Amino acid sequence: MKKIIAVDGPAGAGKSTVSKLVAKKLNFTYIDTGAMYRAVGLKVFESGKPVNEETVTEIAKDIEIRLDESARVFIGEREVTKEIRMPEIGNMASAVGKFGFVRKKLTELQREMAKSGSVIMDGRDIGTAVLPGADLKIFLTASVEERARRRFDELREKGISADLKKVEEEIIMRDKQDSEREIAPLKKADDAILLDTTKLSIAEVVEKIVGLAEAE
Ligand code: C5P
Repeated sequence: MKKIIAVDGPAGAGKSTVSKLVAKKLNFTYIDTGAMYRAVGLKVFESGKPVNEETVTEIAKDIEIRLDESARVFIGEREVTKEIRMPEIGNMASAVGKFGFVRKKLTELQREMAKSGSVIMDGRDIGTAVLPGADLKIFLTASVEERARRRFDELREKGISADLKKVEEEIIMRDKQDSEREIAPLKKADDAILLDTTKLSIAEVVEKIVGLAEAE
């Protein structure tokens, strides 16, 4: 049985939905690294300060991020699980995630969390930078139209109003920014298994990953 599973891929590919379900089936801990970048993004957003390396580093130095067993997200004592899901915070997460200090701090935290046993961790750089020795690496993708539609539905379910075209534009912009940054860009690890989920149901994707994890 594989103990450490890394799931990477572009925005809206279904990484967190699928990873949560795989974690449940295998009795693994799910670690959402995007939530950590979003927490830093939220703090910077709320500060109203310009997004440059100096201010972002300053804010990131003081921030204490914690995820609990139910994947709730905390900055210090404050729970921010809901706030960090706003679309503008996703864009902010991408903007702050290009700075070296932020990546170093969060990568260290993620590696520490992965020591706790069997984990499935999702993000952009897990298979390439955070846990290059992971037992199983998955790169999840889907067409941009499908990813936009999924994100749109997800937002609507959470009661967040959105415009489909705008969601698609934001996804394209965020993927470009994530793929082109200098440190730990979004990229499939050479040894990751590519899974295009455009035409697959959530259950099919989950089954596939569970099968791969259980294989010798
Ligand atoms: O996955 P999610 O949409 O929550 O991630 C928000 C943003 O956080 C991404 O667009 C990306 O810029 C950043 N991120 C990252 N590395 C990770 C996870 C997320 O740079 N491992």
